[in-house]
Amino acid sequence: MGVMLNLKRNLLTLKVPELPKMLYIETTNKCNLRCVMCPRSVMKRKPGSIKFGFYKKIVDKASKEGIKWIRLHGFGEPLLHPDLVKMIEYAKRKHIQKVDFSTNAMLLNESLAEKIIRAGLDEIQISMDGVTRETYEKIRVGAKWDTVIKNVKNFIALRNKINSKLRIKLQMIKDMSETYSEAKEFRRMWERKVDEVSLTSLSSLPTKKVKRIRGKRSCAGIIPPTCTQPWMTLYIAYNGDVTPCCDDVNLDLKIGNIKNSSIHDLWHSENINEIREIFRKREFQKLKPCRTCYILRGG
Ligand code: SF4
Repeated sequence: MGVMLNLKRNLLTLKVPELPKMLYIETTNKCNLRCVMCPRSVMKRKPGSIKFGFYKKIVDKASKEGIKWIRLHGFGEPLLHPDLVKMIEYAKRKHIQKVDFSTNAMLLNESLAEKIIRAGLDEIQISMDGVTRETYEKIRVGAKWDTVIKNVKNFIALRNKINSKLRIKLQMIKDMSETYSEAKEFRRMWERKVDEVSLTSLSSLPTKKVKRIRGKRSCAGIIPPTCTQPWMTLYIAYNGDVTPCCDDVNLDLKIGNIKNSSIHDLWHSENINEIREIFRKREFQKLKPCRTCYILRGG
């Protein structure tokens, strides 16, 4: 517990790292589902997808500057992007150490699954809420239980057959009234089949449609909750706009555009340093998305 407290306290006074740990590239902000908890319901940005040529320029910059981890998802379903396989191949060719993405897996048919595995993806996170058809289809509106189960099982089998090192992680949001009682069963159902089962919390931006169950967190009530995103993350939207938060659905914390700057310059810019300073002073109310963020409300 002591280590955890020190870590949390020190993070706000730590020197800013040379580069972000994770670089999100928003392949698309379009989605094939309408999940009840999704912050897309409050998104005001136009739907769009990144052009492959522009993506390559971003990856070239990332590779040259020494970024080690690229995430190919954002506020949308990456499998909708027709160039996703090429994007994975390109990032790996450019020696990005870790390339991953999160998906609802509804479009993860056998043919696409094989291409993705062979392209060299390092990790896939599959979001599945619930252990029954009823819960799952109530939350993941537009998804089909039978399809997702078939796709996930096929993907696991294919990964094993190809003998790929790709990690498979299954995720469930545990703190919704619908899923809270199914968390243990979810873990039991999948833990021997995949590399990791993750029980996560609701996105930082509250949506009106879900009832949140407050779970226990190790630091809740002992120190004020905090957030480390501006010390770890850059999120590049499909049009190149950049924010230091992967939950900033409307880019209210926009610090610039990748077309005009290097990643290093954005990461050490005045704009992001102002945000960090506000965080250090714990004046979160000054920042629009942070005002209502679950992360700052604690467990
Ligand atoms: S506190 Fe602000 S920066 Fe941190 S996750 Fe919430 S919205 Fe993003």
